[in-house]
Amino acid sequence: MSYNVAIDGPAGAGKSTIARAVAKKLNYVYVDTGAMYRAMALYMIRENVNLDDDAAIAAKCESADIKIAYENGEQVVYLNGENVNAFLRTEEVGNAASKTSKVPRLREKLVELQQKMAEETNVLMDGRDIGTVVLPKAQTKIYLTASSAVRAKRRYDELVAKGEIADIDEIKKDIEERDYNDMHRDVSPLKQAEDAVLVDTSDMSIDEVIEKVISLCRANK
Ligand code: C5P
Repeated sequence: MSYNVAIDGPAGAGKSTIARAVAKKLNYVYVDTGAMYRAMALYMIRENVNLDDDAAIAAKCESADIKIAYENGEQVVYLNGENVNAFLRTEEVGNAASKTSKVPRLREKLVELQQKMAEETNVLMDGRDIGTVVLPKAQTKIYLTASSAVRAKRRYDELVAKGEIADIDEIKKDIEERDYNDMHRDVSPLKQAEDAVLVDTSDMSIDEVIEKVISLCRANK
């Protein structure tokens, strides 16, 4: 049986940074499910699908083939055969993903892929519904969060470091809107699983969070 770790939480809580580091230390495969939802959103943008039209999104996702590969230790998302990693981490795609991800058929396709990956290997998977829906039997479940002000500040610093112009109030507004969409959708809303451990990272450094998550994983082995 494979050993699975589920990490859920809102946008900008640092899930992917933490998950990537912990997976490396514990030698698990890191599965970034947000990237899969982002690839689907990218496809909808490219195909000019109206992002408020759930039926159109459901129909269109049938022609999107998402595959995951690992190249040099990094997860690579293939959308109909094209490596789309370089296009996934923009604000536009993130905001679009929070709309398109509420469509049940789209989620069904991605959840099936995620569950298959977790069956075959020890994975550390991050997302919004991993502990509640995708891997309800995961041996370790963590709900990682931070205040929206702290999350906006981290995202702002990240963008500024990349030389991009950013408006912190705008970022905070986007984060809060995405939280709202993710927590209030009908299918698989973001929520803490009953058996997940809450880790609030507002006043923690990255290294402290990594240590905490590793100790929680080890405690369940
Ligand atoms: O984590 P990330 O910001 O990359 O996720 C982008 C969007 O994909 C989220 O805002 C959410 O709407 C959606 N998502 C989801 N379920 C997951 C992972 C991501 O609905 N397991």
